[in-house]
Amino acid sequence: MTQAKTLTEASCADDYDPNSMPVEGARALIRRFLAPLTATERVGVREALGRVLAADLVSPIDVPGHDNSAMDGWAVRFADLAPAAATKLARVGESFAGKPFAGTVGAGQAVRIFTGAVMPAGADTVVMQERAREVPGGVEIAAGAVGKAGQNRRFAGEDVRRGNTVFRAGQALRPAEVGMIASLGVAEVDVFRRLRVAFFSTGDELVPIGRPLGAGQVHDSNRYTIHGMLARLGCEVVDMGVVPDVPELLERAFATAAANADVVITSGGVSVGEADYVKQLLDRLGEVVFWKIAMKPGRPLAYGRIGNAHFFGLPGNPVSVMVTFYQFVREALMVLQGRRDAGPVPTFKAKLAAPIRKAPGRTEFQRGILAQADDGGWTVRTTGDQGSGILSSMSQANCFIVLPTATGDVAAGELVDVQLLEGLI
Ligand code: AMP
Ligand code: MG
Repeated sequence: MTQAKTLTEASCADDYDPNSMPVEGARALIRRFLAPLTATERVGVREALGRVLAADLVSPIDVPGHDNSAMDGWAVRFADLAPAAATKLARVGESFAGKPFAGTVGAGQAVRIFTGAVMPAGADTVVMQERAREVPGGVEIAAGAVGKAGQNRRFAGEDVRRGNTVFRAGQALRPAEVGMIASLGVAEVDVFRRLRVAFFSTGDELVPIGRPLGAGQVHDSNRYTIHGMLARLGCEVVDMGVVPDVPELLERAFATAAANADVVITSGGVSVGEADYVKQLLDRLGEVVFWKIAMKPGRPLAYGRIGNAHFFGLPGNPVSVMVTFYQFVREALMVLQGRRDAGPVPTFKAKLAAPIRKAPGRTEFQRGILAQADDGGWTVRTTGDQGSGILSSMSQANCFIVLPTATGDVAAGELVDVQLLEGLI
């Protein structure tokens, strides 16, 4: 494709058909228009959970700070141990975690030592206590208790060396990273500011929870799934409620959302028919393309800019909302958040437990249940009815079964791509 400057140019280029946009094409095109946040703030380590590191983190210390014991046992000099016989050594003291032995271990001597305690000077090896027997005045080490010098000894700096880069900017901070930062003695870190995401539901038929339904009405559930998915991604959320299908009200809602957030997400109103007036009013406010993605569920999708905000117009059907969020919005938000690990949901292979019928032409994201077979391998089957309004299928599922565009019917026993839902967002 020639280098297009605007979204409209790019999405109308010869190899992009807005009426059958491939999933990959849409993903790639969206990505070209995303630039990560730059503003940062300094937060305490605990508050850093779920945030994204804004600068490389260099360790101010060695971790661990000293050579120490990996076991409860005896600190000895390897050279003292007879290769094929028990060795008796004199006990000259103890080294506890946080309370080191002050002296030096000389020839024929040993120090009782506990896990994490500093290796005493002179000793180079730890014998685990199960291979030693206390005797009056000392300890008897079993023959062959250690194979080589340095055994059961952890070395200073073996986890992290002073001056080494521990994490790069863009690292998402999970419990492991937060603990790691604490292990360096670092109390505060620079993180990118939170991504602000405004969202609202569109539709005359939508009724907020807490109010009874009239004929033909449905409760607005999309705002709750979207809120949940955004919260799991660590976004700051601006919930703008339900907006009826009234052009003036929609236009005002789009403008307010874009003025107050980095990203605007809506659900509903992008299907054929409804899209026409949404399209017209968005043309006045920004640059938005409407795609029929070659996927199921989640066919209509709008993407673009309104003012300075990125815009995702998701379909109205509750399952489509979740599928398009996982397949497009999640990755985009991760890029905007400055995350190094931004990318599509990882896929792996599992064996299909029962056949699936599918027509070629669209990528399908069926809701699946992964389970471990008797042989220890993973098998997957669908949750059953795959209607895009059946939100309960998302709760029953623990994965998506991804069936590529060209794929037709799939037989039991074949390997299929799956994406785990657990821990995703
Ligand atoms: P639309 O894309 O606006 O034509 O909506 C498609 C279907 O999704 C319709 O059956 C809507 O009633 C339903 N729908 C739209 N928005 C929501 C929502 N916020 N919560 C639950 N269902 C919705
Ligand atoms: Mg609608």
